[in-house]
Amino acid sequence: MKVTIVGSGYVGLVTGACFSEVGIDVTCVDIDQKKIENLNNGIIPIYEPGLEEMITRNMKKGRLSFTTNIAEALEDSEVLFISVGTPPDEDGSADLKYVLAVARDCGKHMNDYMLVVTKSTVPVGTSKKVKKALQEELDKRNVDIEFDVASNPEFLKEGAAINDFLKPDRIVVGLDSQRAEDLMTSLYNPFTLNGHPVIFMDIVSAEMTKYAANAMLATKISFINDIANLCEIVGADINKVRKGIGSDSRIGPKFIYPGIGYGGSCFPKDVQALIRTASENNYDLQVLKAVEAVNKYQKLVLFNKINTYFKGDLKGKTIGIWGLSFKPQTDDMREAPSLYIIDSLLKAGAHVKAYDPVANNEAKHHFGDTITYYDEQYEVLIDSDCLAILTEWPEFKFPSFKIIKKLLTEPVIFDGRNIYDREQIKRNGFEYFCIGVNTTD
Ligand code: NAD
Repeated sequence: MKVTIVGSGYVGLVTGACFSEVGIDVTCVDIDQKKIENLNNGIIPIYEPGLEEMITRNMKKGRLSFTTNIAEALEDSEVLFISVGTPPDEDGSADLKYVLAVARDCGKHMNDYMLVVTKSTVPVGTSKKVKKALQEELDKRNVDIEFDVASNPEFLKEGAAINDFLKPDRIVVGLDSQRAEDLMTSLYNPFTLNGHPVIFMDIVSAEMTKYAANAMLATKISFINDIANLCEIVGADINKVRKGIGSDSRIGPKFIYPGIGYGGSCFPKDVQALIRTASENNYDLQVLKAVEAVNKYQKLVLFNKINTYFKGDLKGKTIGIWGLSFKPQTDDMREAPSLYIIDSLLKAGAHVKAYDPVANNEAKHHFGDTITYYDEQYEVLIDSDCLAILTEWPEFKFPSFKIIKKLLTEPVIFDGRNIYDREQIKRNGFEYFCIGVNTTD
């Protein structure tokens, strides 16, 4: 089977690499010429563990190729995946211009039956728009070619994307034809052999499933952050409360870690888009509005702690930062809490020195030379007035507190991810601030 994947970003590349890994012929398409040129030269545009090796291996085997030419890619392809971006529009709804552009391109160039599968996260009703845009192009050409549309939302997590794709909790597929079901069944067969289920449903439900899943995850994060803030006020310890509630099998221990808010390319925009879909349908998604409001507040909780510690005067202070990406194991900075915290620090007149194992380059697109970047975590601390941890990279978990203390002008740590043991860190002579625990007593 030959598959074309249009949009060679996080989702498109991982999808393409994993399909080719199980022996399927894959062509990845993108409009970004430089990106395709780089990929053809073995330069992978994103950091994702295991991806580079997998892409190189399958390119060598001749099963994976990259092009900007969609017409060429569609020759002999039976399935086309749309995995382009769906960024938020000004009103919060998902901007479908890239998705519909691909549908039109497909209509312009396909010459045989095609199953057009939307992998991008798109609002309920998008498949109908995809169908219409594609049919209009076929009509313009005055040709009668059969096609189906399907929705196959992607649930991979950046940083663990390869594993998530190869061993998915589930694969959700929305479709409305037997031919499409047969194709999707055989395409995903290699991934379902070990019991990973494909859940077939109608297209609207599949589109909704993706948003509902991300909305639920964002809700868990905002819920625990809200409770964490209250813990701090009333003298409870969120780390203990989290364990206490997570051991209830109805709640579970995952995804209830307090922190500095959710970020990334999905949760913020998908929560916004779902609220928008609801309001377009005259329904008020009250829970999700609160989830957003809590997250907005949470992104500045650590800045407020730093500001309070320095008595509201950050002018001339130097803040050493460990971690910039929105979560570990990725260089993705989209909507990262670090963006908001660093912006606030700079506005308040502080200097910022930062280290991230892989996201320094991405951060440069946002901050340019307004902050200083380091390739080594301890160098950041030389003459810094405090250390702030914004991403829980494993390498930050067991640092030398001796060195940290020696390098900082004041022994104070602001831990936005609760990665340290409060008692241990205090024994090491630090002042310590984290989320959801009042550490000043
Ligand atoms: P991305 O921005 O990393 O990549 C999108 C790519 O599409 C870019 O390379 C862009 O140049 C290309 N593109 C845009 N228009 C095009 C066109 N007309 N033809 C060819 N290429 C075109 O985006 P991403 O993070 O991979 O996300 C893609 C979609 O998947 C989004 O809808 C997102 O919400 C969803 N999603 C993302 C993740 C994630 O973790 N990143 C997870 C699940 C779902």
